[in-house]
Amino acid sequence: MSKNNQRILISDLCSVLDGYMSPSQVKGVYQAYIVAATAHDGQYRKSGEAYVFHPLSVAMILAKLQLDCCCITAAILHDCIEDTSVTYEEIKHDFGQEIAHIVEGVSKLTNLEFHTNIDKQAQNFRKLFLAMSDDMRVMIIKLADRLHNMRTLSSMKRDKQLSIAKETAEIHAPIARRLGLNSIRIELDNLCFKAIYPFRYGVLANQIKKQYGNRSKVVSNIQVQLSKRLVQEGLPEVDISGRHKQPCSIYKKMKNKGLKFAQVLDMYAFRVIVKDVAQCYQALGIIHNLYKPLPGKFKDYVALPKSNGYQSLHTILFGPNKIFIEVQIRSEDMHFVSEYGIAAHWHYKSDTKNNAELASNWLGSLLDIQRNSDTSLEFLEETKNDLFPSEVFVFTPDGDIMQLPYGATVLDFAYMVHTSVGDHTLKAKIDQVSLPISTILKSGQTVEIITSKHTNPNPSWLNMAITAKAKHSIKAYLKAQSAAELIQLGKYLLSNAVNYMGIEVDAIEANKWKNCLDELNCDSKETMYMRIGLSEILVSVVLNKLQCEGEHCVIQRIKIDNTRDKAISFAHCCYPIPGDSVAGILTISKGMVMHRTDCANLIHAKNKHAQWLSIDWQTNESEYFEVKIIIDVVNRRGSLASIASTVSKLGSNIEDIEVQEKDNSIKSLALVISVTNTNHLQIISRNLSALAFVREVYRA
Ligand code: MN
Repeated sequence: MSKNNQRILISDLCSVLDGYMSPSQVKGVYQAYIVAATAHDGQYRKSGEAYVFHPLSVAMILAKLQLDCCCITAAILHDCIEDTSVTYEEIKHDFGQEIAHIVEGVSKLTNLEFHTNIDKQAQNFRKLFLAMSDDMRVMIIKLADRLHNMRTLSSMKRDKQLSIAKETAEIHAPIARRLGLNSIRIELDNLCFKAIYPFRYGVLANQIKKQYGNRSKVVSNIQVQLSKRLVQEGLPEVDISGRHKQPCSIYKKMKNKGLKFAQVLDMYAFRVIVKDVAQCYQALGIIHNLYKPLPGKFKDYVALPKSNGYQSLHTILFGPNKIFIEVQIRSEDMHFVSEYGIAAHWHYKSDTKNNAELASNWLGSLLDIQRNSDTSLEFLEETKNDLFPSEVFVFTPDGDIMQLPYGATVLDFAYMVHTSVGDHTLKAKIDQVSLPISTILKSGQTVEIITSKHTNPNPSWLNMAITAKAKHSIKAYLKAQSAAELIQLGKYLLSNAVNYMGIEVDAIEANKWKNCLDELNCDSKETMYMRIGLSEILVSVVLNKLQCEGEHCVIQRIKIDNTRDKAISFAHCCYPIPGDSVAGILTISKGMVMHRTDCANLIHAKNKHAQWLSIDWQTNESEYFEVKIIIDVVNRRGSLASIASTVSKLGSNIEDIEVQEKDNSIKSLALVISVTNTNHLQIISRNLSALAFVREVYRA
């Protein structure tokens, strides 16, 4: 068994934890182990070993990074919700909300794996992963989980190995890089390389082994030389280590720079870790004094850090026997950041707690570095967007990922799928649950739109959609719809006028229509009807053009028996209802607006030469119209309740109410109620007047 898939025991884990946790914390972790071992009892991994060794190994990876107690406990429990009968509530009860929340988050990510076509959507998938990790420890545990799965990949079938390795290379390794988790990232890179190109990996690993084996004496010689000189020059506590190059990074160098193996590896690499920044430069000077530096190869990533916060001095030296020596010099702090990245904040030494704050601190410190060094802000911007996303990512039933702005609803999603889907959205099935179109979407959900041919956009939809596409489509539909209503109104007005003269519209000859449309500059009857509806063309003018024979060439009276689906609205100054003497004013924005004939606004409009028509208004009793009445009542408790019950008993509804104090004893109530016609209103008024506390009832 290789070092990497040695079986980890709880005692091994506890002895690592003992190194940095309090005994009571270690005890807590042990309790989590008991829960996990019991829950996973009887489950086995593909390798044949008991399942619990997997979460234990994941916890061990994180323990070696010295992550905090919550992180380790959650790591041990990370597969419990997903794979055993243990519930979120139970974990919350036993270990607290923070740990339960992390475990639940890891389960959600596990559910997403292999959910989609990675090749096409890797970038979105990475964003989705990060968007769902509202606690970054969720992501860190997921990376450790994947690392252990990669270490034990050999027990899988070949095709499975390949797909897991590809997914890891596309998703997990780049996230580890983004978060600065270098130790995990390097191992993932190499395991992926090994799984995808086993032969190339084998050749390179062999070569590296040979190389270092042959030259181990040279390496230790140089190390001694370096150390000796640094001590002599006053830097005694310096940590020098030889660095082994990894097959994956050598392969990349060979591929990207077109180099041969010997050219890449013909170099000895050392890392020198000192106390602080000043010592970095001091050590550099000493080492340059010992061996001659190669011109043009010195890089100062201390003064000019890399975009992910990496800081170090890099130099290449001419060593003894014509060999090259590559040296990296950095302080302890720089080394810590380069190894841990964002995970540094959950290192046991870190005592702050708030996750978002920590993530932004990490970004903030990167930002400081960037400001001082004047390098590209792109990485930082991307990282910020990933950690504090302004988007949600959801799945279609086919597993495609859709990206929507934060706060987007089912309706936005439907319009993103297709306008024809959006226009007929009835509801959605979100993770198999039926939910209304106004539901706000969350990352990771699978959304299926249920359409109905009877469903169409209405103005309230504009308040439910936030994307430009959805809003635009809804508006376009409503506009087309009101055009249809205007055409209907125009046709209605014209046929009424024609009928009034005893002629049927259909009986008018085709050549008359043609002349009329030509003269009015309309390309179709629809255009003409719409312009009549918009009052751009007077009905009387059309009659004239149609050369209808008759006495009344100027028609000012039409019959209306149904107001639904027509561009007719009712003025709120006078609230006309059937039975009133009414007139209509044709307006450009609203079609025809009806007023009572004694309405002051109507008289004003008539004087301004607006086009108006008196109307013979008949309706069936199924249609309701709003009307405003004023009720003067003696101030008394419960009066409003009696009024409301009287109104509703008589088949009406109170749509709006306003209370005005007249004086101390009299109150004036302005009610908007819905009635079918003037008779209905009279019955209601009579009944209200009969109430003991009512002084007077009258129409506004
Ligand atoms: Mn797992």
